[in-house]
Amino acid sequence: MTQDRRDFLKKLGFTAAGLSMARKTIGQTQDGQIVSAPEEYGEFLVESLDHDAYEVNPEILKAMPGSMTVFSRNGWDEARADRPREDIRNKNLVDGEGKNSNQTRLDWALNDGSWVFAHMGGRHNPYLWKADAPSHPQGKWDPADIDMNWKDASISVKHAALFYGASLAGAAKLNPLWIYSDHHAPTNGDRKRCIPVLADGERFGQTDDAWYIPKSMNRVIALAFEEDHHALMNSPGRLASAATGNGYSRMAFTAGCLAEFIRSLGYRAIPAGNGTGLSIPMAIDAGLGELGRNGLLVTPKYGPRVRIAKVITDMPLIADKPIRFGVTEFCEACMTCAHDCPTGSIPTGERTWEGPSPSNSNGTFKWYINPESCFDYNGFSCSNCKRNCPFTKPNNSWLHQMIRKVIEGKIKPLNHIMVTLDQASGYGQQISDSDFWKMDGSTSITAREDMK
Ligand code: SF4
Ligand code: SF4
Repeated sequence: MTQDRRDFLKKLGFTAAGLSMARKTIGQTQDGQIVSAPEEYGEFLVESLDHDAYEVNPEILKAMPGSMTVFSRNGWDEARADRPREDIRNKNLVDGEGKNSNQTRLDWALNDGSWVFAHMGGRHNPYLWKADAPSHPQGKWDPADIDMNWKDASISVKHAALFYGASLAGAAKLNPLWIYSDHHAPTNGDRKRCIPVLADGERFGQTDDAWYIPKSMNRVIALAFEEDHHALMNSPGRLASAATGNGYSRMAFTAGCLAEFIRSLGYRAIPAGNGTGLSIPMAIDAGLGELGRNGLLVTPKYGPRVRIAKVITDMPLIADKPIRFGVTEFCEACMTCAHDCPTGSIPTGERTWEGPSPSNSNGTFKWYINPESCFDYNGFSCSNCKRNCPFTKPNNSWLHQMIRKVIEGKIKPLNHIMVTLDQASGYGQQISDSDFWKMDGSTSITAREDMK
């Protein structure tokens, strides 16, 4: 059957040119270059932009307080005090005796194992800044020592990121507006306490009263981590939460390793998961993908099926370019995630400059989701807007390849039809946990070559 599909695609001219391993510039546009790079972008052609991917309104766009993220507000904001707090674990493992469909004891075990390294703390915390570490005895590494230039060195740093476990890596100049302006630091007596994050000087460190990020730390390496496709397709079941946790644990491991690699070369490094700043715009600046209607980074290779970490550094890396590959145009026609969101957290309308929640970061022209209603659903265990997105489907689908080619050609009127065809083919349906466990794992993210 697989061979039949390949033959079918070949007849349509859909594969041969796209599967070359090399990164090739194959055209010029007003905004940049058209690039083919199957290892990075799957079978998409992308437009590598000579300008920022964002439209921003400088009157509105300000650095977001970290204390205003929904995660922080859950700890101090009275407006969040009455949020639903159903004990999903107890409901399924005790009341349901571990037998409820998609929430069995086996599913929860996979979930629990997945999250182990995401939660590491103490001196083993991979997200430590190590700001007080002494300067490296051999000073800052110069790539010229081994006949490299900074372009080569930047590729080497991204190679190291992939070596440590990232699925995608890109470098960008750090936009200080993406760094949170404060940090929620509650004490026993003051659960609303916040401290400022000061990024306009040269001090580096974390004290009880403030965090300091030097202006010279003006680069960021954005890291994306593929989430297991079949586990994610179980959303909103427990296996999707396991896919999420697996991503968070790999984020922590890889960001921590990459930060230590950079420090060993004599440069400073701040590894971060969701903390310290907004991961999605940093990843977009670093050329990892576009923003979707679902409020998520949509990458060419994995769609929105990724988790994101980053490492901020003063290593003078050469920045990658932002990319465009038709996500905005496709999302304008496709409302799948908005229609299928169980909480109505995703807008069906046009893009706007501001969102409905105090936890939105306003000032860029985009679709704003409601992070509060999203968080409150199902014990914060939902990935439906990833499960249903046509970009999520791996490259083994002939139908999705056709959709992608339609996007590349920007034949907008067909997008509605193609989405309908994609759904009619069954894509986006929940995979039950029992079907997941019947698989032998050969198509998991650790064996992704089999998915092509
Ligand atoms: S994760 Fe679920 S609840 Fe949240 S926006 Fe996506 S579909 Fe909606
Ligand atoms: S489901 Fe459709 S509208 Fe939503 S992010 Fe994916 S392509 Fe865009």
